[in-house]
Amino acid sequence: MSVARVIVDVPSRDTDRPFDYSIPERLRGWTEVGSRVAVPFGNRTLQGIVVGLPDEPEAGPAGGRRLKELIDVLDALPPLSAELVELGEWMSRRWVCPLTVALQAMLPSALKGKAEKYISLPHGRTWPSELLLVDAGFRALLERGAPVKLSYLLEHYPQEADTIKRMLRSGELTESQKVEDRLSVRTVLTVFPRSEEAMRAAIAELGKRAPKQREALEFLIARPEPIPQQQLAEAVKTTIGTVKALGDKGWVDIRPVEEDRDPYAGRSFAPTKPMELTPAQRSAYEPIAAAIREERSEVFLLHGVTGSGKTEIYLQAIQTSLTLGKEAIVLVPEIALTPQMVERFKGRFGERVAVMHSRLSNGERYDEWRKIREGRAQVVVGARSAIFAPFARIGLIVIDEEHETTYKQEESPKYHARDVAAERARLHGAAVVLGSATPSLETYSAAVLPGDRDAAAGRSWTPVYVPLPERVAARPLPKVSLVDMREELRLGNRAMFSRALSQGIEDRLGRQEQIVLLLNRRGYSTFVMCRSCGYTASCPHCDIALTYHRGSNNLRCHYCGYAEREPEACPSCQSPHIRFFGTGTQKVEEALANTFPGIRVIRMDVDTTTEKGSHEKWLSQFRDRKADVLLGTQMVAKGLDFPLVTLVGVLAADSALKLPDFRSPERTFQLLTQVAGRAGRHELPGEVIIQTYEPEHPCIAAVQGHDYAAFTEQELRHRRVLGYPPFGRLITITLSHEQVPLLHTLGESIASKLRARAASEGVRQTVASGTGASLEVLGPVPSPIPRLKDRYRYQCMVKYRGEVDAVGWTADALRELAETIKRSGATVGVDVDPQMML
Ligand code: ADP
Ligand code: ZN
Ligand code: ZN
Repeated sequence: MSVARVIVDVPSRDTDRPFDYSIPERLRGWTEVGSRVAVPFGNRTLQGIVVGLPDEPEAGPAGGRRLKELIDVLDALPPLSAELVELGEWMSRRWVCPLTVALQAMLPSALKGKAEKYISLPHGRTWPSELLLVDAGFRALLERGAPVKLSYLLEHYPQEADTIKRMLRSGELTESQKVEDRLSVRTVLTVFPRSEEAMRAAIAELGKRAPKQREALEFLIARPEPIPQQQLAEAVKTTIGTVKALGDKGWVDIRPVEEDRDPYAGRSFAPTKPMELTPAQRSAYEPIAAAIREERSEVFLLHGVTGSGKTEIYLQAIQTSLTLGKEAIVLVPEIALTPQMVERFKGRFGERVAVMHSRLSNGERYDEWRKIREGRAQVVVGARSAIFAPFARIGLIVIDEEHETTYKQEESPKYHARDVAAERARLHGAAVVLGSATPSLETYSAAVLPGDRDAAAGRSWTPVYVPLPERVAARPLPKVSLVDMREELRLGNRAMFSRALSQGIEDRLGRQEQIVLLLNRRGYSTFVMCRSCGYTASCPHCDIALTYHRGSNNLRCHYCGYAEREPEACPSCQSPHIRFFGTGTQKVEEALANTFPGIRVIRMDVDTTTEKGSHEKWLSQFRDRKADVLLGTQMVAKGLDFPLVTLVGVLAADSALKLPDFRSPERTFQLLTQVAGRAGRHELPGEVIIQTYEPEHPCIAAVQGHDYAAFTEQELRHRRVLGYPPFGRLITITLSHEQVPLLHTLGESIASKLRARAASEGVRQTVASGTGASLEVLGPVPSPIPRLKDRYRYQCMVKYRGEVDAVGWTADALRELAETIKRSGATVGVDVDPQMML
């Protein structure tokens, strides 16, 4: 009996288990673990993924009955490997999501539809000579060159299944499909020169007529290679019409040719050679290379200040992996923001690099994905989801700027690429390098406190700590000064810019140097702050900022629900200057124009960067000195390297510090350190001016001293007391529905199930202060976003530490309540190890 165990693509908890189907004879050769199939389900046809090929169908209620048959296999090659299916199963347990959601996250979206697949010989390829023992009709069909429907091959040549799959894996055949109503493989009209004699004869025939046609023919005689029609026209400065005329007369052959839509086509990348590593780099590189060679799935934390040569280490470690015939994955936070990074990888490895990021179209992404699967690329540089690149022999995974929040997906599956990397590396025997100047406290503490049972809570991997403490050319880090904005107010300056910053801007304008201004807009007007003394209200239980709720005019803690009235005067200094805090980039732009007449400003924020390619456009204008100031939100902090930037100003450093999220100080430290690193990267020395209402805050003080260790030590001490990560762990369960009372009842049921479980297993129910296993459930309380699309939102937060299987308990509780939840019509989302508490 031939059985396929299938996960159907219905993302709900009650279909989240495999269903068995029998495999009809004609599909046997095609069905593998990881195949995408069509199956009958109830009275519908659904898509699903094969997760197992058991010898016998599962016993049980359905076991006795005759199994239904698979209807179809949708791709010639399974889009997922057995390894990725296993990874998906791990993800679904780790982040409490239906297995189909985890599996679908690994597929390029072009592959999610029902589009018909086509198989063809790549253009210019002939049938491989060693493959002669195939059906003659089958071979002739493909040798015609035109794409053949996969369904036709499945039906007529089931005996060639293995041949087709092998040829696809080696790139001797390619698979294509219509994406967004066109063949995903773009075709380019290409001119194929005929023999030299034929073309000379044509020139003779032309005589003195049509000099441009003659010129085109001469060009082809000199360079007898296929050339895109457009390119030929440009080369001899004529129109497409002229070239077409040559084709019409039969003097050249013009045919459509498939082309990958390479988003970097037409760009050239200066090739680079490996550099001689500095001693510090060498001692960081050696253990990484050893792990790659010995196939040890070890995780390294490469902690190096900006400019310490981390990227060069990545490049050489990748080379080591490639030399061994293995592949490498490189994750970067957001490629659109770091074009310089892509250049460096393309420069070193050229065509072997595939690039995947969020701004590619579905078709472009599918092309890059096929490059990887067909073995044409061995390195992928990409954003978060590139961690699922369909490589078969991974030697190395690099995560650059590992502390960045973009590595956590905020919709289901709510996975963190760092944990997926560690797990995938384990399955491949690959090394993982996590690089950062400001590592996340989770990663850092796991590396430097490996023996600390609390810090290691629930972590399956322990990174090896590899510091890189100095910049390569011993260039100094920029000088950072703090401006106390309370003092400015006291001296009567109510403007946006302090005297020091105004002076700094004035100076740079005079010297024709450039300025980067960061306005951290996150947290805009959600909290109340005293402008006289810097006081902000925070929750007495959770030590996070209280959030202002307009409707009820009160301040609330969105962790535990604590509330108090909005103050009229500052409880600390009685000043009336207590109010919402925050301002937008547009206002700053206006203020700049008013204060410094004639100043040229480029504003980069969500409003000015929606268009594809707009980041690059603004950045290259700034590089070309078309502006004096680059003003923006977080996006101006990352990866930029402009020699003329000698001043970095930070407006309202505190707005990020006071967000109601326990990680706010950490994020602020990372952001400010990163933006400070933009100044004085070359010959001209840099200066950083940070405006703050709280210069004495340890986070701000640590930025001034470039002191990661001091900041971390202090922050970890604080987190340990309160039981926040990395000492404790969190799970948030968010419920949404049109009716508040129902949310309350449902939230209570979930919370009390978990509390009862803790009680029955003898687990203590206060997490703060104390060690050993403990778990507490906060809530249900209104979510930080209390209402979205007319649905109210409530949340419960599970906080736990020590040996407690809180994830398993949560999954159990939701399974037990599945029926109730379904009947109520509420939506329930789980976030394990949430990164955003807002
Ligand atoms: P990071 O990734 O840590 O910011 P980079 O790898 O970009 O650091 O290196 C910073 C600068 O130093 C780059 O201009 C790089 O070309 C240069 N660099 C890196 N390693 C070396 C080396 N071994 N010898 C000389 N220059 C180097
Ligand atoms: Zn005050
Ligand atoms: Zn609270």
